[in-house]
Amino acid sequence: LTVGIPKESYPGEHRVAITPQNVQLLLKKGFSRVLIERGAGAEAQFTDEAYEQAGARTVDRRSVFSESDILLKVRALSTDGPDSEVDAIREGATVISFLYPMQNRAVVNRLSERKATAFAMDMVPRISRAQVFDALSSMANIAGYKAILEASNVFGRFLTGQVTAAGKIPPCKVLVIGAGVAGLSAIATARRMGAIVRGFDTRSAAREQVQSLGAEFIEVEIEEDGSGTGGYAKEMSKEFIEAEMKLFYEQCREVDIVVTTALIPGRQAPRLITKAMLGAMKPGSVVVDLAAEAGGNCEATLPGKMTKYNGVTIIGYTDLPSRLPTQSSTLYSNNITKFLLSLVPADKKEKYYDVDLKDEVTRGAIVTYDGQILPIAPRPAPP
Ligand code: NAD
Repeated sequence: LTVGIPKESYPGEHRVAITPQNVQLLLKKGFSRVLIERGAGAEAQFTDEAYEQAGARTVDRRSVFSESDILLKVRALSTDGPDSEVDAIREGATVISFLYPMQNRAVVNRLSERKATAFAMDMVPRISRAQVFDALSSMANIAGYKAILEASNVFGRFLTGQVTAAGKIPPCKVLVIGAGVAGLSAIATARRMGAIVRGFDTRSAAREQVQSLGAEFIEVEIEEDGSGTGGYAKEMSKEFIEAEMKLFYEQCREVDIVVTTALIPGRQAPRLITKAMLGAMKPGSVVVDLAAEAGGNCEATLPGKMTKYNGVTIIGYTDLPSRLPTQSSTLYSNNITKFLLSLVPADKKEKYYDVDLKDEVTRGAIVTYDGQILPIAPRPAPP
């Protein structure tokens, strides 16, 4: 079987779906050929020579699409115009990528028309066994880290406190709203850079995780736990949201950097930071809104942009993992390669792969099977 990796075509996308190291692994595991588009890894610092040394063949774009049985991508295949990627694949090919099938019905329908078997990396169930394929967590980890770096780039002071001959410098104060994978990564990064960090989440399970990173867990005085299906957050009551916003208003007067990561799967992100709160922040403060793509946690966020409101910088970048392309490609490549290898049955001499719809992970991630659109699998219950 031939595995193909095209260059990502989405504007500003710097990641590549596979590293040379994982090319080697696929060949070792019995896939007959790996074709990679020339220059596909260049922006992530993986050269054509490195891919060739690993055993891949570097070819033109057309050959990757027309000769591959299995395509590995970061972004979903494009559907529009003469360069439509979905029209370029082999009929009946298998495609593994981020897909977000609920939001991308048009791509799913086109994949179905092309009789494709498509797996969405974003639909892999978040159970212990599947952690190794969890690309959402890999990317969220990077986004949280990069959020602090982006904030520190525009913040005019140190994050750490110092006592110098020229004067005593107080540490910067950081508030992180939402302590999931991205939030915890932001907390850990800000702590490592010496900031005083506070964390908030609606799930009480997050308290211990926040505290274990050396941050303070701040709370509201309402007994309501935000844990929903599969360990994800559920939508909170109006009273809870009001109480947390009151808390954030007070916090905004004190802190220098706010990172928001509050998300509820399948819903618009809750609006938690208002313009009035931004007005209460000190000039030079920074807000990084990691929920920008889902509508934003902050009222003044412009998705994809850095903007200013009342002297406060608001960062709404939606491509933070792609801004750390070598790291994000490496982690994504590990996730997608291991996912593909998980489809290879042990008793088939690893020469080809099999779709076992009884397997919880396969069933969770599959979106189309030989062209048939499958209903979204139920999410696992909370642990
Ligand atoms: P996410 O990106 O969907 O959400 C980010 C955070 O926002 C969550 O922690 C959520 O509780 C919080 N949030 C939602 N509404 C909020 C509000 N109004 N105010 C403040 N915070 C709010 O979450 P995620 O990082 O993808 O994962 C969240 C959960 O899933 C965590 O419990 C994590 O441990 C779990 N998880 C499990 C696995 C696994 O078992 N394989 C993998 C990844 C994540």
